[in-house]
Amino acid sequence: MGNIRSYFKCDVCGYITLVRAQYGWLDSHPIRYTCGHCKILIKGTATLDQENADFRIDIENAIFISPENEANFYIETSGELLTEKLQPFDAQRHWYSPPPFFESLWAMNNTNNLQSGHENFERFKRNVLNFLYMIKNDWHKIRRINELWQNDNEKYLVQEVHNILPKKQFPMNNKLENLRGVHFLTRYFLQPIIDYKHNEMIFRELKSLLEQNPSNLLELSSFFNGHFRRYEKRILRIMEHFTEVFKFLIPAYGLTFYVTVNEELFREKGMTTAAFEDIKEFYIDTYEVVAELLPIIVAYNNLKYRNDYKKMSSVKPQYDFERFFEIHKGKKIEYIDGTEIFDKLILENAIDNKIRNAIGHNTYEFDGITQEIKYDPVGKNKPSDIQSMFLVEFAGKCLSIFQTVVQIWELIYQTEKHVYVSQGMKPVSPDVFINEFSKLGIKKKKELRDKRRQEKRGKKAKKVQKKMQRKK
Ligand SMILES: [Zn+2]
Repeated sequence: MGNIRSYFKCDVCGYITLVRAQYGWLDSHPIRYTCGHCKILIKGTATLDQENADFRIDIENAIFISPENEANFYIETSGELLTEKLQPFDAQRHWYSPPPFFESLWAMNNTNNLQSGHENFERFKRNVLNFLYMIKNDWHKIRRINELWQNDNEKYLVQEVHNILPKKQFPMNNKLENLRGVHFLTRYFLQPIIDYKHNEMIFRELKSLLEQNPSNLLELSSFFNGHFRRYEKRILRIMEHFTEVFKFLIPAYGLTFYVTVNEELFREKGMTTAAFEDIKEFYIDTYEVVAELLPIIVAYNNLKYRNDYKKMSSVKPQYDFERFFEIHKGKKIEYIDGTEIFDKLILENAIDNKIRNAIGHNTYEFDGITQEIKYDPVGKNKPSDIQSMFLVEFAGKCLSIFQTVVQIWELIYQTEKHVYVSQGMKPVSPDVFINEFSKLGIKKKKELRDKRRQEKRGKKAKKVQKKMQRKK
């Protein structure tokens, strides 16, 4: 990773900003910053031509000028990392300060283990590059496979899945197996950036419900049978949207690997890959979908705690189970308060109805310099109602809400599978289920076993990836 300093003069006010661009492993990345003097948005793209060792920034609302000029402002940009926000230029400080790459390495470094910074950074890099690669090369295939499934187009579905997955383990010979093939591929696609440890909770709870009240569990599954298709369509649309916005969220994803994340970090560091406008739609669309999926979480909680999937909690607001589907989305979200186990599928801080309302009512302002989003969830213009959060925090919410959708999606998948099994459809072998789960989900206590499995998974992943490339 290297960094390049360029001077840009604002087209409007003539003030000069020294842009220190960290180039890394992306061929290109968006750049967004606000002119420190006249406050207009300056947008562009940084392109790295690896072959010709050429780095270029194309920018609008400012022009490139020679470095003899004295800068007024300083900003760092990077497609991958958190960077210093726009600030008045200070020759002494800014000439010798370490570039974003080193700052990130240190932030990912655990003081007890000197290697951990490099290791974490490498993992971060590998995950992002894998996912970007798969978005570019594989997503269109995963999407069309899901579409074929959703449209009951069995003939083409089987053909498409068998282009990628082996017939022996994925026979695709009944609805149960078809669903499993589609789900496996989609889960595989998301693997680089999704944490699958929630699966462990889902399997454990479903197993125990199967012992506790098998007939009611089946009633629950059958009840949702009429909803699965609609749920899957909504979720696929969110996945599609996610593949479009992921490039804006990379620096926030990097925080997953930071040792400490706190308010001070958000105040000091920013991201130049996105403006609030680029990602807000994704958040509110996904929020709507999560709200729509909540009844299945409520049903499972009812079954677990009250032994009947329709029996609602007596200590929460009183709704009939059927009525719960019709209530306002905000009320649905409020109902999930973290007190029952399936609530855990909703990540903490992912669902924020205050920021959602402010986006929905257009009652927010984004300060491009501090990267602070000031928002009014009530919309009555009372200063005491105004709240704020930083752009990086909001980008983190976009990642958490997507992870939440994937977690609920797994619960829906298990429920749908249950319906097909109850209709007498046979899985290729019960063994396949166990293997499949352990490969992508359940963490075993013994490290050794874990490691061996990881190696196996690596081999299998390579095989699938190879196959996908061949079939392009
Ligand atoms: Zn300006």
